[in-house]
Amino acid sequence: MMKIAIIRCEKNMDRCPLTNCFNCLIEKKKGFIQYNETIPAGVFTCKCPGDNAVGLSKILKSKGAEAIHFCTCTFSKKSDKGWDMADGGFCDNIDSIIDTVYQETEIQCIKGTAHLPKGYVPSTWK
Ligand code: SF4
Ligand code: SF4
Repeated sequence: MMKIAIIRCEKNMDRCPLTNCFNCLIEKKKGFIQYNETIPAGVFTCKCPGDNAVGLSKILKSKGAEAIHFCTCTFSKKSDKGWDMADGGFCDNIDSIIDTVYQETEIQCIKGTAHLPKGYVPSTWK
C-alpha cells in the first residue's frame, strides 16, 4: 500500500478541488499507474515563490507519505487538443521546486497526477 501525498499550486486552489487528481490516485491511472495499491496521505498547497514546498513535504513525510506527486496543471495547460505542456502550466519553476524538495527530504517525488499530456511519462525523483 503506497501512501501518496499531493502538492498543488495556489494559482489553481480556488478553481479545482483536485477531482481528477483524486480519481487517478484512487483508480491507479495516469500519474499513479505504477502503484499496485494506493492510499491518500494528504494534500498541501504550494505558495509562490515555492519556498514553503520543502516544509510542507517534511510534514507530509512525517504523516507517512512515501511519495509526493505534483499536479499536472503546474506544468501543462488544457488546450483544444487536450492537455499540452508546450507552453508550460501555472509554474515556471516546478522542476527546481521538486528538485529542492527531493534533495531536502529524500522522499520520492513525481511530476504529474491526472490528465497527463500526450506522450508525457512522469518524471520521477528517487
Ligand atoms: S492536475 Fe487537474 S485535477 Fe489536479 S489540481 Fe490540476 S487541474 Fe485539478
Ligand atoms: S511556486 Fe509554482 S507551484 Fe508554487 S504556487 Fe507558485 S506557481 Fe504554483
